[in-house]
Amino acid sequence: MTVGVGAQARRALPAVLAVIASGVVRAAAPSLELDVELDPGTRRFNAVAVVAPAARDFRFELHESLQVTGASADGKTVRVAPAGREGTIVAWQVQMPVGAARLRLEYGGMLPALDRSLDDRGVLRALPPMASSEGSFLSAAGAWYPQPAPLFTYRVAVSVPGDQRALVPGRLQSESLPSGGSGRYRASFAFARPATGIDLMAGPWVMREKIMPRPNGGPVRLRTYFPRELDATAGLADGYLDDTRRYLERYGEEIGAYPFTEFSVVASPLPTGFGMATLTYIGAEVLKLPFIRATSLGHEVLHNWWGNGVYVDYAAGNWSEGLTTFMADYAYKEQESAAAARAVRLAWLRDFAAVPAGHDQSLASFRSRIHGAAAAVGYGKSAMLFVMLRDAIGEDAFRRGIRAFWEEHRFRSASWSDLQAAFETAAGRSLAPFFEQWLNRAGGPAVKITQAGAKTEAGKVRLTLTVEQSAPAYTLRLPLEIVISGRTETRSMDVGRQRDVVTMLVDAMPEGVRLDPDLRVWRVLDREQLPPILRQWVIARAPRWVLASEGADLREAAAALAKRFFEIPPQPASQDALNQGTEPVMLMGLHADVDTALAHAGLPPRPASLAGPGSAQVWTVARDAGPPVAVVSGKDADALRALLAPLPHYGAQSWLVFDGRRALDRGVWPAPGRFIAVQNER
Ligand SMILES: [Zn+2]
Repeated sequence: MTVGVGAQARRALPAVLAVIASGVVRAAAPSLELDVELDPGTRRFNAVAVVAPAARDFRFELHESLQVTGASADGKTVRVAPAGREGTIVAWQVQMPVGAARLRLEYGGMLPALDRSLDDRGVLRALPPMASSEGSFLSAAGAWYPQPAPLFTYRVAVSVPGDQRALVPGRLQSESLPSGGSGRYRASFAFARPATGIDLMAGPWVMREKIMPRPNGGPVRLRTYFPRELDATAGLADGYLDDTRRYLERYGEEIGAYPFTEFSVVASPLPTGFGMATLTYIGAEVLKLPFIRATSLGHEVLHNWWGNGVYVDYAAGNWSEGLTTFMADYAYKEQESAAAARAVRLAWLRDFAAVPAGHDQSLASFRSRIHGAAAAVGYGKSAMLFVMLRDAIGEDAFRRGIRAFWEEHRFRSASWSDLQAAFETAAGRSLAPFFEQWLNRAGGPAVKITQAGAKTEAGKVRLTLTVEQSAPAYTLRLPLEIVISGRTETRSMDVGRQRDVVTMLVDAMPEGVRLDPDLRVWRVLDREQLPPILRQWVIARAPRWVLASEGADLREAAAALAKRFFEIPPQPASQDALNQGTEPVMLMGLHADVDTALAHAGLPPRPASLAGPGSAQVWTVARDAGPPVAVVSGKDADALRALLAPLPHYGAQSWLVFDGRRALDRGVWPAPGRFIAVQNER
């Protein structure tokens, strides 16, 4: 996914927050009132803050571009002084007079310019407040306001020039549009729940609105804030509003009523993908992509329950990404088809298999995505935990657990152990071993069936399996596929030691068995369950290419394609390379020549399912020994040239059929795992 880390994930909360949030300490919530004037064109920012801090000795931070110009408490001037700095953040300190509850601060300055060079990675880090007429983003992590406490309520009034619009998360209280050419846009927002920070966004947007009625509770205001050009794209803004409504209704039913009164889809000039309470802030370019509405939008909407509704106790690990991925991205695939859902589980397990040794971490230690290895655990393993949990306790108990967890923890911070408790109550049993092994242990089990035998016994057949796994052993319920007279039936078996012997009765003598062909258990997959996909060639360290055909024109086309396809410049090689060395090889050429070269090298022929259609076919060859071979077979040199742009984007596929530049069909080879023949022990 190119988007998906919620704004919450960018702020690690101090441990004390958990105490306050869980209600052990209940003082009057600290609050903040802000009146902000922002002129994005000149980047001028002025604000008046009224703070009710948690302590008399109040310390706060402001970005270095902002200076305090006045301070008073209950009408009396007080002294505010800088008290150190860290990088671009300056610490300020003020001693509140005895009896004074509220501090009034005037501050302002010229904000840094919007840094358009930021990529997705850069945006995931803490950003300074940034302004420009094409878009301004004042991130909560950027210290653009004095934060009264880790959790606080707020009201923000913002004023921008008439051609701009601005918002912060929260309920829209009032709004005035510019009248005439010289007016300003003003809007006021309130956030009555304890918040962890405020992000302010402004831009040259057109606003669109739909009101979503709710049978229980008031209506929800749905809005898009799109730049004019994006807003003018036929059906786009309306599509976002309708899809948002669909997601809000879905999760309202599944979990509990939507906890806010608005939801806005806001276009960003940066390639962001942030989910905040009541809104999502997504790159304008990204908003045009069809999968954003189908997947990422639902993911960000769901973060209003997980992350911005129930807060994450970061000290104890981030459960919210996994649960959100499970109930959004993964759930949509489940709705599509069983095969689509299996493909997602395969992708998670494949990413996990690719994590270099020593870079694996436990799920409990995942906080937020900082590199690919963390994502394999924090999103993939975490979402798979919920797949396994639902398999273990059943759909009904799982749903009850979800609803109870929401009911009990909304607007408080919660941890994995709170989730565990909710599911234990729903299931009516302890889930301690389950959570313990999946949360606290890094990696996963490597499991295999080492022996399978069967014996006829009073009209039935007793099947006996030896199951071995890596040490220390996991407690697992493993799906087992039994093949009897060409049919398959699925059972499950419980194991918990390095070597278990499992027996079960079946109706007839089985031919063989397969372990978890549907990939429902988190584990280290063996080679037979990892179908070769093109990415293995794309990222090869010393790739080679082989031309099966003659001719300068073909050689030129093949060389260009090889250069474009591999990340590291590939070396041309002779046909002997198909059976030499260990590094991946790409075989290219005209159809008839490719067939001859494959036969000559003793490799499997062109798959029958691919022969025929289109101008070019691409496939990976599954083989037990020898270098990995991928094949690109075209009807002429132009057919190869047509693949220059599209082919590198299909790393996740095992095979494709192209007509010119267009992929007619594609897929991943089926890989149900090793078939273990059952010995008839008569
Ligand atoms: Zn997310």
